[in-house]
Amino acid sequence: MATGISPNDIASLPKAELHLHLEGSIRPAIACALASRHGITYAEEEVQRRYKYTSFSEFIEAFKWVTSFLREPSDFAVVAADLAEQLLQQNVVYAEVTLSIGVMLLRKQHPQANFEAILEATESFESRGLRLNWIFDAVRQFGPEPAVEVVESARRCSSPRIVAFGIGGDELSIRTSEFRGAYLRAAGYGLHRLIHAGEIGGPEKIREAVDLLGVERIGHGIAAIHDPALMDLLAARQIPLEVCPVSNLRTGALAEQLRNPRATIEQHPLSQLLRHGIPIVLSTDDPAMFHTSLSNEYKYAAAMGLSAEEQQRLVANSFRFSFLPGVERARLSPEPA
Ligand SMILES: [Zn+2]
Repeated sequence: MATGISPNDIASLPKAELHLHLEGSIRPAIACALASRHGITYAEEEVQRRYKYTSFSEFIEAFKWVTSFLREPSDFAVVAADLAEQLLQQNVVYAEVTLSIGVMLLRKQHPQANFEAILEATESFESRGLRLNWIFDAVRQFGPEPAVEVVESARRCSSPRIVAFGIGGDELSIRTSEFRGAYLRAAGYGLHRLIHAGEIGGPEKIREAVDLLGVERIGHGIAAIHDPALMDLLAARQIPLEVCPVSNLRTGALAEQLRNPRATIEQHPLSQLLRHGIPIVLSTDDPAMFHTSLSNEYKYAAAMGLSAEEQQRLVANSFRFSFLPGVERARLSPEPA
């Protein structure tokens, strides 16, 4: 409830982050270090230049470029340890980090070996107050069979740290219904389910994901503003949207959804969705690639006109709608669940 907390105090609160890609957290200095491990020299300025986009497709190109240096399990270890440091610096005590297993499989890598290296690299952060869990992610445009392979990778890794299966990538590519088998299998293995939908696609992508795939959270989902009945449904069923304002600005998704090429972040529909009663969790998506941080996202939330109580609700939501078991959630959350 309202406590009169100032927006600046948000920075000092223990926080959680639920929509965060490991591959999008590679800072320019780390990208240079990774490239040099494979005999390629880049200046940080070159990485900075590549980390600028005016459209979703340009962002995808940059994502492909930087992930091309993730070749060995030890590369993943370097990136994971650096992400953990970034999170601790912002007082993030819990994160569910998305791993693009679909890309690993496309590149004929071994997800198990990469995942073991990631776990080893981040294990010591637990004693420093950071708990990490992982989401195995498929790439939508690669199709339903590779998505099933991602689910099978999660089963083979057989780790309690893998909490969910999701799909990202181009939501306009392959029909949602094609992925029913992958989601059914994921549910059968006890994985939680989520998906990127309504980021650049329309509200029907969100509705399909809820109706056909039984997803428990939606990545982005800002297209819901175009469908009042869908907003009612998300609120009634308390299905959270993982909202990433700076990402939406930088990929052009915000301009697309608002039908305004000059849309500013202050016009982001986060407050409209939140005030409709839909649970919102605030996230960075790809913090290094979008030049943002969780603290930065909270500053923008304040700039969008969210009250201190509403910002505090966002902080609480990131624990409440996590896939942590109840006991652990209660232990880590700054508020009663
Ligand atoms: Zn994402």
